[in-house]
Amino acid sequence: MTTTATTTADPVNPVNPTGLATTLTDGTLTVPGVPTGLFIDGRWRASSTGRTFDVQDPSTGQVIAAVADASPQDAQAALDAAVAAQDAWAATAPRERSDILRRAFDLIHQHSDDVAAVMTLEMGKPLAEARSEVAYGAEFIRWFSEETVRVAGRYGTNPEGTGRAIVLKRPVGPVYAITPWNFPLAMATRKIAPALAAGCTIVLKPADLTPLTALLLAEIFVRAGLPAGVLNVVPTSDAPAQSSLLLADPRLRKLTFTGSTPVGTRLLKLAADNVLKTSMELGGNAPLLVFEDADLDAAVAGAVLAKFRNAGQACVAANRFYVQEGVADEFAARLAQAARALQVGRGSEPDTTMGPLIDDRAVAKTSRLVEDAVARGARVLVGGAVVDRPGTYFEPTVLDDVQPGSQVLSTEIFGPVAAITRFGTEEEAVRLANDTEFGLVAYAFTRDLARTQRLAERLQTGMLGVNRGVIANTSAPFGGVKASGLGREGGHEGIEEYLESVYVLTADPFAS
Ligand code: NAD
Repeated sequence: MTTTATTTADPVNPVNPTGLATTLTDGTLTVPGVPTGLFIDGRWRASSTGRTFDVQDPSTGQVIAAVADASPQDAQAALDAAVAAQDAWAATAPRERSDILRRAFDLIHQHSDDVAAVMTLEMGKPLAEARSEVAYGAEFIRWFSEETVRVAGRYGTNPEGTGRAIVLKRPVGPVYAITPWNFPLAMATRKIAPALAAGCTIVLKPADLTPLTALLLAEIFVRAGLPAGVLNVVPTSDAPAQSSLLLADPRLRKLTFTGSTPVGTRLLKLAADNVLKTSMELGGNAPLLVFEDADLDAAVAGAVLAKFRNAGQACVAANRFYVQEGVADEFAARLAQAARALQVGRGSEPDTTMGPLIDDRAVAKTSRLVEDAVARGARVLVGGAVVDRPGTYFEPTVLDDVQPGSQVLSTEIFGPVAAITRFGTEEEAVRLANDTEFGLVAYAFTRDLARTQRLAERLQTGMLGVNRGVIANTSAPFGGVKASGLGREGGHEGIEEYLESVYVLTADPFAS
């Protein structure tokens, strides 16, 4: 696998000799040997119906690949394989699981140019951001390779002194994982790595908009020595049919989902019928608070990252900017200047700092939100319009004086629009920040330590960034409260999501 500026004659990958692979290219980037089949029970297969669906490059609108479209029958075969592999995988020595994960981490780095290029081609993000995602996504595999050998239970005397209590941890069982398109690698590794580390087998359904990165990842795991059936990848154009089938199967024991709150809610209802353990990483509506005592350079730099990274298509993207009156004019002007300096273009162009939105629907939604805010009195400081070029682009946009009731304040924008509102007191800022059903992340820019502590205790959020615009880290528990989800990914907490506790009480060994 190599990224080159030209196509190669032999697109067929050595471990994928089925011909179910393609060469991806946009004329600038080319990646040969990218798998396009279903990965079930350690083998690449066509769909049982023979159907495929197209994957487009959002930066051009061109179709770049046709991927096998898993039917419900294929999904069933994937779960059959995961179930068959479960006991043997759970019984594998933790060190062996750890070594496989570690080899996968090394292989991702070895092929980081290819993995980054595939993400840029199918999702549109600038290559520099795709490379950062490769590093971040791979880090979950390294982190959980280390956690594999540290799963521990406990042993102790019961309070009455009449027996010994043992608590042991064991893998919950076969997992169904569903991931979104916005971080095609990291959202998959954040689930696959802890599941494998814990001893669970897994069926992964990547987003149909970006299945190629996940398929490449499957191949990396094959090369790392993962046994057949432990990881299965089944992209489909009919997610509802697949999920209702798998979630109703009593052999499945866990659902892990990253995506929007409406879809997550639907899946939770299905999971309830089968009493599945669930981890739900759902939508966000992050407030970003700038106080008068903030370092404004840091606030603007953090705001640019929190808003415009991935063209605003991140669950942790800052959605609502609440700025204290004394610094609001200056902050707004400086953020607008920074937004104006962003270079919008194809991810593969070297100067690009912001890529396209994922599709036409995303562009239409962003336009609607801006129009609504402006109709209600917001001022456009910069941007505000669709970019007139092939592909699905929207200008980096800063709106000031956004009025209460504007949809942009209550909706997860998922686009490059910063909506600024002013506040007077800390009390008011907290009230505004908490005025949402979401609670994934919040950002605060202030030099006051006590204020930071008050915010950490009062903001209804799973995560808080202080004087930082990006806070995700593999060693930390990522996740939200309220409608932003259940459970945590990463950190020591991450592996617990794939384990269950078994309690054993023995008799007092000293009693005769
Ligand atoms: P989405 O909910 O539309 O889709 C997510 C995944 O669910 C995709 O794989 C999709 O094919 C699948 N899906 C859709 N309908 C389904 C159904 N009925 N049954 C089973 N699967 C179904 O979300 P999206 O547009 O891909 O991603 C954007 C959303 O994801 C945003 O709301 C964002 O905040 C959220 N997100 C959250 C986190 C987090 O960690 N909290 C991270 C990234 C993205």
